[in-house]
Amino acid sequence: LVTMEHVDKHFGDLHVLQDINLTVNAGEVVVIIGPSGSGKSTLCRTINRLEPIDSGEIRLDGQHLPEEGKKLAQLRADVGMVFQSFNLFQHKTVLENVTLGPIRVRKVPKAEAETRARALLDRVGVGNQAEKYPAQLSGGQQQRVAIARALAMEPKVILFDEPTSALDPEMIKEVLDVMVDLARGGMTMVVVTHEMGFARSAADRVAFMADGRIVEERTPEEFFTNPQSARAKDFLSKIL
Ligand code: ATP
Ligand code: MG
Repeated sequence: LVTMEHVDKHFGDLHVLQDINLTVNAGEVVVIIGPSGSGKSTLCRTINRLEPIDSGEIRLDGQHLPEEGKKLAQLRADVGMVFQSFNLFQHKTVLENVTLGPIRVRKVPKAEAETRARALLDRVGVGNQAEKYPAQLSGGQQQRVAIARALAMEPKVILFDEPTSALDPEMIKEVLDVMVDLARGGMTMVVVTHEMGFARSAADRVAFMADGRIVEERTPEEFFTNPQSARAKDFLSKIL
């Protein structure tokens, strides 16, 4: 569903992505882990070309992702994103946050968009918060709204960049539970996370990044019990 081939990118002198090859099949959950600064967020953002790349090829559902233009906008609408910092529209209600994309981009009639939004908010456990503003919600609730907002676009894949890193411990689980639920439901997901429990239980594959490269890419079982590279061993010894 998502294919990256020989993707290279620099930030000035920094070779932030080096020959990235990654395939995510429909229904798969790929977890990206690695040390801070290894390029995980940049990789995530290049998938839908929020970050320009120097060279390489990115395809979504078999279609080449152009660098700009209408076609890119169209393909991007199929890629949901959930960030560490929620990124909800602060001056809009929860319901409006979830209906905006479908109404504007998908041209869904307002009443239908609202019905679907309420069902999604129910699904992520914040159905009773629809008329509130983001600032009136806890971090965990806001992040679940962000997930509902992504789902409302009926994306083919959702990218999560450290979705629980900004949350208090007691809220992490409620967000991870929603993500596990999505994963079980067959959603295609790329998840950057430090939550090794999630990686172990929900990932089909773990991609370990260091210094702009995918150093290892294996099943969580293989990766956690028998990491191959020195970088991965070192990383795991520090976090597990
Ligand atoms: P973390 O775990 O801390 O989120 P990461 O693996 O997501 O780290 P990136 O955010 O992708 O890492 O950053 C990779 C490297 O690229 C870092 O050294 C960072 O300083 C650098 N970098 C990121 N964004 C930019 C930018 N817009 N301009 C210049 N350098 C950047
Ligand atoms: Mg990051």
